Amino acid sequence: MANEICFRTLHLDTSWSLEAYQSVGGYSVWKKIFTDNITPASIIDELKLSSLRGRGGAGFPTGLKWSFISRGAPGQKYIVCNSDEGEPGTFKDRDILRFNPHQIIEGIAIAAYVMGASIGYHYVRGEFFEGFERIENALLEARKLGLIGKNILGSGFDFELHNVSGAGAYICGEETALMESIEGKKGFPRFKPPFPANYGVYGRPTNINNTETFASVPVILQHGGKWFLELGKPNNGGCKIFSVSGHVNAPGNYEIPLGTPFAKLLEMAGGMKGGRKLKAVIPGGSSAPVLTAHQMLDLTMDYDAISQAGSMLGSGAVIIMDETTCMVKVLLRIAHFYAEESCGQCTPCREGTGWMFRILQRIEAGKGSLKDLDQVLEIANGISGRTICALGDAAAMPVQSFLKHFRDEFESYINHQQCLAQTI
Ligand code: SF4
Repeated sequence: MANEICFRTLHLDTSWSLEAYQSVGGYSVWKKIFTDNITPASIIDELKLSSLRGRGGAGFPTGLKWSFISRGAPGQKYIVCNSDEGEPGTFKDRDILRFNPHQIIEGIAIAAYVMGASIGYHYVRGEFFEGFERIENALLEARKLGLIGKNILGSGFDFELHNVSGAGAYICGEETALMESIEGKKGFPRFKPPFPANYGVYGRPTNINNTETFASVPVILQHGGKWFLELGKPNNGGCKIFSVSGHVNAPGNYEIPLGTPFAKLLEMAGGMKGGRKLKAVIPGGSSAPVLTAHQMLDLTMDYDAISQAGSMLGSGAVIIMDETTCMVKVLLRIAHFYAEESCGQCTPCREGTGWMFRILQRIEAGKGSLKDLDQVLEIANGISGRTICALGDAAAMPVQSFLKHFRDEFESYINHQQCLAQTI
C-alpha cells in the first residue's frame, strides 16, 4: 500500500485544495469530534493503539506524548508543528506542505482539541516559499468554513493557527530552538528538563510534533488505530514517507508501510544507477550512523530493525551510495555541514565540530596521517552525550560509524593520497 496516508490526495488535480481534501474524507474527523462529542481520552487511546511514532526523527510514541498535557490544566497551552525540515537528505515534509496542506491543519487542530490549546504555531523552514503559501491559503479556506478560529462549528471551542517562517537555520529544527525562534529570539536550544510539555512557548505547556506526524492523525482517526497499526508491524504502526536520494534511478518520496524490506524500497526507487553495486546507506538522514550494503540488504525499514542494526530511522531520509563513492569525501561533506550549523553554545560541539572538519579536510587534501583517525574519533567520542542538544551527537555519529565500517578506506586514502573507490 502506498500513498494512503499523507499523500492520499496526490492523485487528484490541485491536490492541495479544500475540495480535493474533502473528497477523500478530509475534515470529517474534525467535524465528527464535535457532532459525536468524541473525548480527548478516546483520541489518545486510538493513537496509542495505532502505534504512531514521531516522524521527525526521535520516533517517540505520539499517543503517549499527547497524554503529557492535560486538557483541564489551567492557563494557556500551545500546539506547535515543526515543518523546519533541514536534515540533509530529507525532503518529505515540504511535499506534504505543497500537496496536502489541509491534512496538516486538521491534525494540528485535533491536537489542540485534545490538549485544550487555543493557539498553535506552524513553523515552516524559511526556504519553503511554495509550501508556506499553500498552508496560508489552506488556512484562509479553513477559516472561511469555520473549521478554525472562534467557536469552531458552533462547538464553543476556539483555536487559531499561525504560520511562522523560519530563516533557514538547521538548529531551529531542534524543538526548543524552534520555540525560542517563535518567541523572536535567536534559535538557541534550551537545557532539558524542563521539557516543552511543562515549559514550552512563552514558558507555557506546549506540544510539538513533526508535520508528517500531525498529517497522519486524521487518517488514523478516520479508519481506526488498529487499521493503522496493521499497515505496519508491532510498535511500528502505519506507513512512513522515505525520501530516497543518491545513486538510484528514481530518487523521490515513497510512502510505504513500516516493515517493508529495504530491497523492496530500493527496487521502488528504480534500483541502482548504472547497475552499479550498493556500497553503503545512511538510513535516516545525515546524522544517522551509516550502514554497509551487507547490513542493509537484509533489513526492513522500521524503527526497531534499523536501531538493532546500529543506526536510526530518523526522519526517513535514505541516502544510497554505490561502489564508486569516496567515503572520505562523504564524511568531510557531512562534517562541514555540522561545523557550519553548530549554534556555538556548548564547547564540545562548537570546538569539536570545526576540529573534526579541519582534520578530515587535511586527510582529503592528502596531508593526513594515520594518527589523525584516532584523533578525530577521540573528538567525536568527547562530543557524544556532552552537549545541550542532539546536534553534538548528530555530528559525532557519522564520524564514529564511518570509521567503524570503512576505516580501511580512510587508511588507504592516507597511505596513497587517493580514494580506494576511484580505483574500481
Ligand atoms: Fe548549540 Fe551544538 Fe550545543 Fe546544540 S550541541 S546547543 S548546536 S553548540
